[in-house]
Amino acid sequence: MPYEYDDQNIFAKILRGEIPCDKVLETEHSLAFNDINPQAPDHVLVIPKGAYVCFDHFADAASDAEIVDFNRAIGEVCRILGVKPGEGGGGYRLIANAGDNGVAEVPHLHVHVVGGRWLGRMLQPPG
Ligand code: AMP
Repeated sequence: MPYEYDDQNIFAKILRGEIPCDKVLETEHSLAFNDINPQAPDHVLVIPKGAYVCFDHFADAASDAEIVDFNRAIGEVCRILGVKPGEGGGGYRLIANAGDNGVAEVPHLHVHVVGGRWLGRMLQPPG
């Protein structure tokens, strides 16, 4: 079943300029902004400007230019935050939630870039 994109989601409204964001980076095909409810000292969301619901939708349907731009934007956000381990930063975690099991709240692809503190093990135990 093909994805249906809801253009009333909050990130679509940010992309249209209908609500503000705390911008970190903007490129031709991507936008990065601080999460409104940060879970760590560094918590940035990177989104494609195109109408993609989640990562697999993007991987299947986006152009090569969008995919390259998005990945480079994530890397650039890591540089801006100063979290790149190869450059003396403390490291980070990338999270892309999708669907019910992934507990995705916003149906527009976003990668969380989280860092600035020790993040513990990858997943919480169920419960
Ligand atoms: P997810 O559960 O992966 O869908 O994450 C959605 C994220 O969007 C959460 O971390 C929210 O805090 C964040 N969020 C929701 N609304 C906004 C907003 N207006 N600006 C920035 N971040 C937001």
